[in-house]
Amino acid sequence: MIADVINATELKKIDPVFGQLSFDNHEQIVFCNDKDTGLKAIIGIHNTVLGPALGGTRMWNYNNEWEALNDVLRLSRGMTYKAAITGLNLGGGKAVILGDAKTQKTPELMKRFGEFVHTLSGKYITAEDVGMETADMDLVRKVTPYVTGISESMGGAGNPSPITAYGVFMGMKAAAKFKFGSDLLEDKVIYVQGIGHVGESLVEHLTNEGAKVVISDINHERLDQVSTKYGASIYTGTDIYSEKMDIYAPCALGATINDDTVFNMKAKVIAGAANNQLATEERHGVLLRERGIVYAPDFLINAGGIINVYAELEGYDKQEIMRKTENIYNTTLEILETANREVLTTNRAALNIAKQRIEDRKKVNFK
Ligand code: NAD
Repeated sequence: MIADVINATELKKIDPVFGQLSFDNHEQIVFCNDKDTGLKAIIGIHNTVLGPALGGTRMWNYNNEWEALNDVLRLSRGMTYKAAITGLNLGGGKAVILGDAKTQKTPELMKRFGEFVHTLSGKYITAEDVGMETADMDLVRKVTPYVTGISESMGGAGNPSPITAYGVFMGMKAAAKFKFGSDLLEDKVIYVQGIGHVGESLVEHLTNEGAKVVISDINHERLDQVSTKYGASIYTGTDIYSEKMDIYAPCALGATINDDTVFNMKAKVIAGAANNQLATEERHGVLLRERGIVYAPDFLINAGGIINVYAELEGYDKQEIMRKTENIYNTTLEILETANREVLTTNRAALNIAKQRIEDRKKVNFK
């Protein structure tokens, strides 16, 4: 037996789930395996006080299973606070599928994943995230109703990414208003890192407003396409973080604000779509504040997508979706002002409000 051969200290070091650094009192973690389709997935359900845990599925070629577990724990936690601060009656959950979305994603694998989602009886509702398309959610829909982000032709609200981008645009404008005194982005130098589903749509808003947009991506084909379409410049340097810019918009993956990048950052505002942008929330939030860099909390400004998929559950129309998403401007400005007044990181100020809403609901639920 393991306990016979490993001493207590070593056991502590390898506590695989509840002992993980990113474990934050998650309610449930489900490991899914299917030999026939090659599916290996983890579903993380962080908190369901406000409602069923809703969050997308990410397919990514993780270096190892620890990385995947860490990602799902962090992402699902983020969803709890995203729904809470946005005023939605949803909890936080997320799923990751381990593998390369370009080469390993098959209809059979997606349907098998949907069957696992179905076993949770609606406690977790899935949607798309990195590596997923609306068509993949349509496949999941064939085996479970607990999926959002399906095609409009199948009764869904369609691709959430343009709405996410619009919310990020609103949050960015609010952060610009706070930092520069005006929310007009004309002539602002804005670096968009990652021009996928959300990034491209954000580039469209920014170029329409006359911003000087610089784009970066690991996919060179996309860089050429997006640059040609919107007239954005392509970044060709090697250290985007230390470039002189007004606004940095991380729209690829998380944790780009870390010990290697934060000390050289020249951006005055950070506002982007990526989840979990701060590698360590408090530490990197404080470092940004000390350096005078205004950080628009990711889970607040990238909530457009969840507003869009929530509409599928609640039956909102497009107008209501846009109204709720536009309101990200007001919430962001309010939180930046609160953080300033109370000498908190902006992330902490947003978390405080989200956590309070959950605590308040708990009291009502347990009455
Ligand atoms: P996507 O997969 O369509 O796009 C991601 C892009 O980032 C790709 O073009 C990829 O090539 C690029 N990329 C990956 N690593 C990179 C790197 N190191 N440098 C530069 N570019 C890199 O994903 P998306 O749907 O556009 O989502 C982008 C981010 O926003 C993700 O972090 C996602 O979790 C978050 N987000 C998305 C939504 C949504 O509605 N899609 C909602 C909330 C949050």
